[in-house]
Amino acid sequence: MSKTVIVTGASKGIGATTAIHFAERGYNVVINYNNSYQSARLLTTSLKSRGFSVIQIKADVSNRMETDLLIKETIDKFGSIDILVNNAGISQIGLIDEIDDYDAQRIFDVNLKGVYNCCRSVTPYMVNQKYGRIINITSMWGQVGASCEVAYSASKAGVIGLTKALAKELAPSNITVNAISPGLIETSMNANVSIDDLNSFVEDIPLGRIGNTSDVANAVLFLANDSSDYITGQIIGVNGGYVV
Ligand code: NAP
Repeated sequence: MSKTVIVTGASKGIGATTAIHFAERGYNVVINYNNSYQSARLLTTSLKSRGFSVIQIKADVSNRMETDLLIKETIDKFGSIDILVNNAGISQIGLIDEIDDYDAQRIFDVNLKGVYNCCRSVTPYMVNQKYGRIINITSMWGQVGASCEVAYSASKAGVIGLTKALAKELAPSNITVNAISPGLIETSMNANVSIDDLNSFVEDIPLGRIGNTSDVANAVLFLANDSSDYITGQIIGVNGGYVV
């Protein structure tokens, strides 16, 4: 029987590419989105037209009732939930006193509470079936901190702490919990970064290029694979050597 994966924030960027990679490998895929209905619909339609098993479900991951429904609708449709990829995230660049309280709270609510909510909603199902793979997308800024991204860095550091704690808690139930920690990846999240800033950033990346969404998706697939059964509580960098 095919395994089922939920990818949160799969309407674009890293999440969309991850959803495509899972679909192409025969998984049942749930494309979660919040605002970008059209992008999610286009992706779902194009994957379905290729014969893949894909549905889209709207849910704001910062809202626990909505994450409960996301999990329930997935079980209703596919009968199980084997892999949860907590990818949904937002960012905002600015000095700490330039980001207003609402925006900072929203960053914490989506990036950290959103991961917590999805884990909280899915855990009863995974514990019951004694199998699960939870893969959280953090950021290298959660490891080393970024100036002008204090709330973002803190939220992603929180995801690292959550990953390690939950890995220990769920290991007896044969559920692994790991995180991928991307470096600079070419997506709309970085659309406002100037070409000059990007070029100077690239000079400091040992592998000499910005990452692409497949670089991250491939690492997610590696962790989802049964051959990674003995890996849990780990933070795997996909950053071209920028943070080692
Ligand atoms: P992106 O292109 O901006 O995509 C973000 C995705 O998150 C969208 O699909 C968006 O869906 C979804 N999302 C945002 N808020 C949501 C919410 N409340 N509920 C559900 N979905 C929500 O960004 P990306 O670069 O692919 O980022 C994906 C993840 O990688 C994020 O966690 C990000 O922090 C992390 N990351 C990115 C980079 C990078 O350089 N790009 C580096 C390190 C880590 P809607 O548009 O439908 O709301």
